[in-house]
Amino acid sequence: MKQFDKILFATDFSENSELAFDHAYTLARKFNARLIIIHVINEPVDLRGFYVPHISFEKLEKEIEEGAEKMMEKFCRTKIKDYTNYETVIVAGIPYEEILKKAEEEKVSLIVLGTQGRSGIDHFLFGSTAERVVRKSICPVMTVRLS
Ligand code: AMP
Repeated sequence: MKQFDKILFATDFSENSELAFDHAYTLARKFNARLIIIHVINEPVDLRGFYVPHISFEKLEKEIEEGAEKMMEKFCRTKIKDYTNYETVIVAGIPYEEILKKAEEEKVSLIVLGTQGRSGIDHFLFGSTAERVVRKSICPVMTVRLS
């Protein structure tokens, strides 16, 4: 059987991705794989001085980053026990692009994601990070759907 030596797990901190994490974590432990946990801060539309001139965009950005770091820290504290072979990454951008970019940079052997299985208008409006990653990834992708 092929070994997984690096696993990229992407989280938006939803219940969905938490469930997917259990699979990523189990596999990482089984293969003693490096587990990379990525969260992508959805790149905000550039509001700089356009709609809300009184708000400092830099300040807002910094607060968003700090909030994401706190969430990541809490996530790892509650979900990871006695496993040190992991790292966390927080970047800003378009989630599927950043996930794919990281996977290629790190040459990971597996990507693990949640999926909501949106359909109809929801799917049309919001698209699907999971679907885009599955379509474009050059490495295997595991998606876990919350039933
Ligand atoms: P979606 O297709 O948008 O419902 O998202 C499916 C899965 O993609 C989530 O369960 C996460 O595993 C991953 N994902 C979505 N958004 C992000 C994000 N901003 N950062 C990291 N992973 C994400």
